Amino acid sequence: MTATDPTAGAPEPRPARQTFRSPHNLAACSPRAGKGIKLGGMNKAFVREPDDTGQRNCPRCGSLGIAVGPAAIDGHLLPDRARSVGRPAFFCPLPTCEVVYFDEFERAATTADLRAPVYPKDPAAPVCSCHGLTRDEIEEAARTGDLTRVREIIAQAKSPSARCAELSPLGRDCVAEVQRCFMRSRSSQQAD
Ligand SMILES: [Zn+2]
Ligand SMILES: [Zn+2]
Repeated sequence: MTATDPTAGAPEPRPARQTFRSPHNLAACSPRAGKGIKLGGMNKAFVREPDDTGQRNCPRCGSLGIAVGPAAIDGHLLPDRARSVGRPAFFCPLPTCEVVYFDEFERAATTADLRAPVYPKDPAAPVCSCHGLTRDEIEEAARTGDLTRVREIIAQAKSPSARCAELSPLGRDCVAEVQRCFMRSRSSQQAD
């Protein structure tokens, strides 16, 4: 028996309580600052917070910076601009962001401060600056299947005399970047 107690009546439905106040979680997911620069699908979840790992995000676009040594900075910035960024310094990997190097105090050197264009800020600049391998050549190799030059350069870049780590704008060996570029060209060509 579920006889209803007549004195209870149907309670007035209470208005749903406003438990969802400011959607600050959503705000935290949107890319930082950015001056209209699109982060290419990157969101806050992939941009680690600056913590004891020493990682820093680009003050302009929010991309996670790549730590670089003094040789990368001195080798690629104009002599009078090399001191515009303190140490430790970071490279901003987002191709469309004009910030090239920045430091912990958000001081930044831009593409205008470079001696010569660098990859990936300028897609036509060599992916491996020490051996002059360009993205066009890598795409060509991916298209024709002729890997002679790419293999040759990877071998050179891996040799003990290679100065990639010193000469690359990212301050590290270019092999991984060359391979990434090759895989990307190949998969985009297969998709066509
Ligand atoms: Zn940036
Ligand atoms: Zn190299």
